[in-house]
Amino acid sequence: MNLCDIKTVKNLLKRYSTDTKKGFGQNFLINQSIPYDIAKESFNYHTSVCDSACVLEIGPGIGALTSELCQRYDKVVAVEIDKSLIPILSETMADFDNLTIINDDFLKIELDSFLDEHFGSASVSVCANLPYYITTPIIMKILESGKGRFTSITVMVQKEVADRLCATSRDSEYGAITASINYYGRVSRLFDVAPDNFLPPPSVTSSVIRIELFKECPYFVSDEKTLFEVISGAFAQRRKTLLNSLSSSISWVSKARLAEVIEECGFELTIRGERLSIEELCALANKLYEEKIK
Ligand code: SAM
Repeated sequence: MNLCDIKTVKNLLKRYSTDTKKGFGQNFLINQSIPYDIAKESFNYHTSVCDSACVLEIGPGIGALTSELCQRYDKVVAVEIDKSLIPILSETMADFDNLTIINDDFLKIELDSFLDEHFGSASVSVCANLPYYITTPIIMKILESGKGRFTSITVMVQKEVADRLCATSRDSEYGAITASINYYGRVSRLFDVAPDNFLPPPSVTSSVIRIELFKECPYFVSDEKTLFEVISGAFAQRRKTLLNSLSSSISWVSKARLAEVIEECGFELTIRGERLSIEELCALANKLYEEKIK
């Protein structure tokens, strides 16, 4: 069965008395070369950095990408929120005995125990055509939990989100999310996908990106909580200077001392938070942590 053939997709949905649901961000792929390329990119990177071949998919839909993953990986676990798609997946994925389908909301899963239960101690990659309404929470959940377990995240997102995630501190798209992701890994854009490759077509172009996760964090950070407080404070008021933006969000240091710390880190007092790379944010956070524990 060609799960990207538009007639097949429509017939399947009709046969199971369901339809695509906007509320779940359902835009199904209808050009087979796209899930083929996404799965290939995911698998090739994952197997270049580890021996096991395990993948977690979020939102399998009716299985277009899932079947490509099952043909490459030894073990695939797919989490789908929409219970009306589970019987469809049971039919379309019946040939694969290396697939486990879980009907759940990915954002509600306790990820560390989930990984232990389904993958033991193996390294895992993440691959998905993400539901656009929760792209950032999904990516942040993967980065924040299951640390050290994931090799990479290969996902389709809105192009505008990809622009933000792939930006550098010199770009206008650079933001708190970019800096946070840069702390966990290296992001790259693989290719763009036009709206007519989906049913229904989304209103914007999409991009497939890959986040290659660091095995060991290359930055020294005294306290992660402080780092993320500094990141969110530095970007909270983008039109203000780093000093003004941070001083309204950080309570444990006076504005005068904050100004000294900023200068001690080698930054001009007129600098804006959005100009700081993750390395510079880590250095600033380490200094501010010293102030916190004084
Ligand atoms: N993988 C399919 C494809 O590429 O054709 C479908 C991708 S569609 C953009 C997003 C999928 O994520 C849908 O199947 C949707 O039901 C599912 N989804 C949405 N929110 C979810 C959540 N919180 N947890 C798990 N799956 C979710």
